[in-house]
Amino acid sequence: MNHYPASLKQLIDNLARLPGIGRKSAERLALHILKASHREADLLASSIVEVKKRVRLCRRCFALAEEDYCPVCTNMNRDHSRICVVEKPADMAAIEMSGGYNGSYHILQGALSPMDGIGPDDLRIAELLKRVDVDGPSEVILATGTNVEGEATAAFISEKLHHQPVRVTRIASGVPMGGDLKYVDQVTLKRAMETRHDTRYLDK
Ligand SMILES: [Zn+2]
Repeated sequence: MNHYPASLKQLIDNLARLPGIGRKSAERLALHILKASHREADLLASSIVEVKKRVRLCRRCFALAEEDYCPVCTNMNRDHSRICVVEKPADMAAIEMSGGYNGSYHILQGALSPMDGIGPDDLRIAELLKRVDVDGPSEVILATGTNVEGEATAAFISEKLHHQPVRVTRIASGVPMGGDLKYVDQVTLKRAMETRHDTRYLDK
């Protein structure tokens, strides 16, 4: 790759830093961008700048938004008495795609993982507890992953909500152990939402 001009090498280096993109893919993408029209290349560059400039986290649920509040939080046709707790924006997108849910969300921005040094304070758990306290929802649905981190996060939140007059449920059946919500097919995810169960078993 040493025979490439410096600017092209720079682009390959930057693309190779993206997750899931190896040197070979980065080289192919860079050469594709080089061949593309100026207009196409400008569109790609400006959309990267725009997304960084515009997208922020919803002040209530921490979903991705371009305003202070996300479209779900401002939609009066949604059932705001239910809060579905997920780890990442992609999980919320997967549940939205399944079409089986009309409530609101709370995006934790990760899961508890002591091995990686991720504790409760690194997630939006305090904000969730406050939201439950202030808004008094009827149900909190724990839709974190079914891997170790997701289960630990669900158990932690369930325990924290133990004394709140709110029904706490956990999606379960159909979602494979160790499953990442975004990889679960839509029918399975819809069924998992519909057959959620109360989480008393999580409380010691
Ligand atoms: Zn929101």
